[in-house]
Amino acid sequence: MKIINGNKIAQALRNKIATKVKPLERAPGLAVILVGDDPASAVYVHHKDKACKEVGFYSEKINKPSDITQQALLDEITRLNNDDKIDGILVQLPLPDHLDASLVIETIAPEKDVDGFHSENIGKLMQNQPGLRPCTPKGVMSMLATTGVDLVGKNCVVVGASNIVGRPMAMELLNARATVTICNSKTINLSGKLKNADIVVAAVGRPKMIQGDWIKSGAIVIDVGINRLEDKLVGDVDFDTATHAAWITPVPGGVGPMTIATLLENTLIAYQNRK
Ligand code: NDP
Repeated sequence: MKIINGNKIAQALRNKIATKVKPLERAPGLAVILVGDDPASAVYVHHKDKACKEVGFYSEKINKPSDITQQALLDEITRLNNDDKIDGILVQLPLPDHLDASLVIETIAPEKDVDGFHSENIGKLMQNQPGLRPCTPKGVMSMLATTGVDLVGKNCVVVGASNIVGRPMAMELLNARATVTICNSKTINLSGKLKNADIVVAAVGRPKMIQGDWIKSGAIVIDVGINRLEDKLVGDVDFDTATHAAWITPVPGGVGPMTIATLLENTLIAYQNRK
């Protein structure tokens, strides 16, 4: 079993981005809006800010109180849409219940939507047209590329069908000409679906739900899940029993760092497109 080392691949990507940023006359700018004080979200925003600084981006971290009104948040996004220093805008999800996340995302100018969640960018992904792509699935595609395995015609099973991971992930794999099965909480006989999977992407949010003996020998296993157990983080796959996989991503140190590096990659693309 070989490990797909997300830390290493992400570092290489950040180095590549930093080299491209150096000669630019203006630093690409990323604004991250954090609403409220959810500790996990605050940690993610901190990592994003740190990564921006490492590659030489201009970074704006905007904290808003949890009782911000819908209109005030939309006004802030509009301000950033019109700010020339800012190439990418990200609103850290989830948002408090009184805010309409879809409306917030749709208010971000599509050319600054570096999370790739705006319906225009999702539509482009569906049609396999160039556009800003959701970071986690795009990062997974970069990780798969490092294995050197040709995805064409491969059986891929994506477990999880959320708008931010599962669905765009399935579409990325389909665009790479793989054969894709998407599973959700109502899927009957999940282990049977995984039996013939050459590639498994787990994005569920249930600790160690996917057992090693559900995985085909020689498969590639990408574990997107991040689950906090008492003293550690674990994925959705039972890593210790999946030793017969050909390749596997660890948690932590797998998909997580690649999501952030891909956000930087998208911000640089947004900068180049806006120029
Ligand atoms: P969501 O809760 O939005 O979606 C979970 C999906 O899993 C849903 O489609 C749900 O089905 C499905 N599901 C739930 N239970 C089962 C089951 N028993 N069998 C099959 N499918 C099931 O989660 P996210 O997509 O936002 O995140 C998934 C995981 O990935 C989380 O652990 C999250 O922390 C992590 N994550 C990691 C990132 C990274 O950078 N590494 C980035 C984003 C997320 P249904 O549609 O029927 O409800």
